[in-house]
Amino acid sequence: MKQEKNLTESLQENVNTFSSPSELKITDLRVCNLTDAPKHCPLIKIYTNQGLVGFGELRDASSATYALMLKSRILGENPINVDKIFRRIRQFGGPSRMGGGVSGVEIALWDLAGKAWGVPLWQMLGGRFRDRVRVYCDTDVEGRHTGHDMGMALKKRMERGFTFLKMDLGIELMFDIPGCLNAPLGLLEDFQKYSAKALRHQRGSVDMDMMMGKNYETFTIPHHATGIHVTQKGMDYLEGYVREVRETIGYEVPLALDHFGHVAIDDIIAFARRLEKYNIAWLEDVAPWHYTDHYVKIAHATTVPICTGEDIYLHENFEPLLSRGGVSVVQPDLLSIGGALEMKKLADLCEKYGVGLALHMAGSPVAAMAAIQTAAALPNVLAMEYHSSDCPWWNDLVTGIDNPLIVDGFARVSDKPGLGIDDLNYELIAEHIHPKYPGMFEPTDEWNKEWANDRTWS
Ligand SMILES: [Mg+2]
Repeated sequence: MKQEKNLTESLQENVNTFSSPSELKITDLRVCNLTDAPKHCPLIKIYTNQGLVGFGELRDASSATYALMLKSRILGENPINVDKIFRRIRQFGGPSRMGGGVSGVEIALWDLAGKAWGVPLWQMLGGRFRDRVRVYCDTDVEGRHTGHDMGMALKKRMERGFTFLKMDLGIELMFDIPGCLNAPLGLLEDFQKYSAKALRHQRGSVDMDMMMGKNYETFTIPHHATGIHVTQKGMDYLEGYVREVRETIGYEVPLALDHFGHVAIDDIIAFARRLEKYNIAWLEDVAPWHYTDHYVKIAHATTVPICTGEDIYLHENFEPLLSRGGVSVVQPDLLSIGGALEMKKLADLCEKYGVGLALHMAGSPVAAMAAIQTAAALPNVLAMEYHSSDCPWWNDLVTGIDNPLIVDGFARVSDKPGLGIDDLNYELIAEHIHPKYPGMFEPTDEWNKEWANDRTWS
């Protein structure tokens, strides 16, 4: 009897405290803001009563507050009930960066569920369709340059093994070339004066000083309201640029275009028709995503595939564009759409309507691993975006992942539980904390009591 008791005690001492998923409870949520990765990346950690910690991340250039305001709603909940918790917090998300809190928490819940049960995220989403995910680098060239210069930059990507390309092609290339753009006099000067940094934001992070006052007013005039038109000379210039790119990289590799600028949709149509002979993979964000009729009009007027989606929250908000033929490709961001299960539901919608899916991703390795593990479980992924190929320390921000994570233009799908990350590299993170948002996973007790009557109907 005494021996039996000792055996029981011994077993209890050695029991894996991570092995009681049914008893798991959320005890804390903390945040940390990275900078220059190359973007501002807000990370989150969700803690539990069993020592398990889940990693999540908000959309690039988002505010960690969107996650912190959810803390009081998830404390005490069992994180393995991902969908139940998501349905509680879904009401606190919105388009673009506002979707970051809900999405980041959802990802961290999957990480916890995966670690609790010992299975990877892709398994919980139904299993995998692929062992590796195709990756493309967003590519731009500094300062005044030619299509040939851009072609050479893209060729370097190909030499490193990338099999899918995307470049920026925008009207700012012509700001200082007379006769290329037609706009209410003074407006183009305003764009150069106030929004120059924001126009080039894909090179780095969008920060507060770029998006206040007149900067914000200028940069948020929608395409149809700027009154900016591209002249025939401008059309010739841009077409010549694309021709030079194609002459440099050849016609065999897919080439997507982004950041055209806020010009009238009629001009987008005219330019898209000129692009048709250059085999463009897609033309991205040529109108605010919620103007379905604009997308339908553009898409029906050209054979160049039209794409949008990085700012759309929840899978159902893609359906107007999908059902009406406004896009040939969607480009959701896992950290804006609402997380992995929303992405899976969107992939099903894309199957229904016959539309391609490419993942937007501009975050840290936490976001990348979440996107890769999710992409593995989707039937229809073209490729995943990647912004950090020129950031030498990016891969080292977490431990336990492939290093380098992207090899020959692909990311391997991990078999490790959850997101597939062992831990964060706290020493390295400490070197890259955003100066405007100091602190590394500090206590957040002030968010424990945040509350409203959380129901959206009576
Ligand atoms: Mg984009």
